[in-house]
Amino acid sequence: KNFADYHLSAEIMRALAVLKYDTPTEVQGQVLPFALKNQDLVVKSQTGSGKTASFGIPVCELITWEEKKPQVLILTPTRELAVQVREDITNIGRFKRIKAMAVYGKEPFSKQKEELQQKTHVVVGTPGRVIDHIDRETLALDGVKYLIIDEADEMLNMGFIDDVETIINALPANRVTMVFSATLPKDVENLCHKYMKNPINIEI
Ligand code: AMP
Repeated sequence: KNFADYHLSAEIMRALAVLKYDTPTEVQGQVLPFALKNQDLVVKSQTGSGKTASFGIPVCELITWEEKKPQVLILTPTRELAVQVREDITNIGRFKRIKAMAVYGKEPFSKQKEELQQKTHVVVGTPGRVIDHIDRETLALDGVKYLIIDEADEMLNMGFIDDVETIINALPANRVTMVFSATLPKDVENLCHKYMKNPINIEI
C-alpha cells in the first residue's frame, strides 16, 4: 500500500512528502481507510508505530478550512504528548493552513484563551485544562466532529478517566470518536462501549 491509494488531497500528499513519509506504517494502513469514512475506531497500538499520523492524516484531510470553531478535539494524558501531537498535526496540515493549538496546565490560561478566540481547527489538550476552558466558556465544543482519545490506558493510570467522561458529555452526540491505547483495560473498554457507535476494533 502507498499513500496515493487513499485519494488524499494534494495538500496532504505534499506535506507527507516533506515529512518523508513514503509508505504507511502498519497502523496507518489499517486505520486510514476507516477513519477517512468517519468510522468510530478503537485502536490497540504502541507509541512509535506511527499512530499520531494514523489519526492526523485523516482528520487533516477531513477538516473544513473555513469553519471558525474547533472541529477536532484530541485528548492526551500529558503536556509533552499534547505538544508533540500539535506539532505533528501542524506539519501534516501545513499546506492546508490548518491551525492546531495545545492547551495544558502550567501555562497561563489567558494566553490560551486569546489563542482560542482566533480560528482554531484542532485543539489538543490534557483533560484538566480542557475542562477549565469548558467551564469558563473559552472553548466552543459545538463544532467538534472528531474526538480522539490518545493513550487511553495512560489516562486511566493517571486518574483522568472521569475527566475524560465529563468532556465526552459536553461534546455533540453527532461526532466520530477514535480511541488509541497500548492496552485495553476493562475501564477503557467500558468507556468505549458507553460512548462509541459500533466501533471497529483494530489491533496491531
Ligand atoms: P508515533 O507513533 O506517532 O509517535 O510516530 C513515531 C515516529 O514515526 C515519528 O517520529 C513519526 O514522525 C514517524 N512516522 C510516522 N509515520 C511515518 C511514515 N509513514 N513513514 C516514516 N515515518 C513515519
